[in-house]
Amino acid sequence: MSPAEKCPRTVALSALVDDELVEPARVALDAHVAGCAICASVLAEFRQLRTSFAALPDVAPGVDFASLVERRIAAAADLPKPKLRAERWRWWQVAPAALGGALSLSVGTYLGSALVLGSQVMAQPEALQMAAFTANPPGALCPALQACNPTRR
Ligand SMILES: [Zn+2]
Repeated sequence: MSPAEKCPRTVALSALVDDELVEPARVALDAHVAGCAICASVLAEFRQLRTSFAALPDVAPGVDFASLVERRIAAAADLPKPKLRAERWRWWQVAPAALGGALSLSVGTYLGSALVLGSQVMAQPEALQMAAFTANPPGALCPALQACNPTRR
């Protein structure tokens, strides 16, 4: 990173102070800081802060927070869990599906019966037209009822 490039973020400078940058990034940042007055002053400030924090005495809390938190977690675990409601179908949830099913069955039955009955209705006029070509001419006397109408029994 040359001085002409954009200045790095303060996070990168803080990582440099904490010695958490890997080799190529650290060398590039060192090169930038060497040529940039702004970053050099920020880095100097971070190093001074680090030194000041390191000089502070260790403070030991009088309370063991870990045991307090563990006790609270155990108390929360003993609380009764809210019961999950069993998933149950209500009649108003099933009604649209039942209505749709009944409607589709009715339409299917109607269309099926119309198809079957329609084919019989269409066959009748054709049978009447062909009646002129039977063995008995129209208007002939029938010796027996069966002889004049062989299709009907
Ligand atoms: Zn800079």
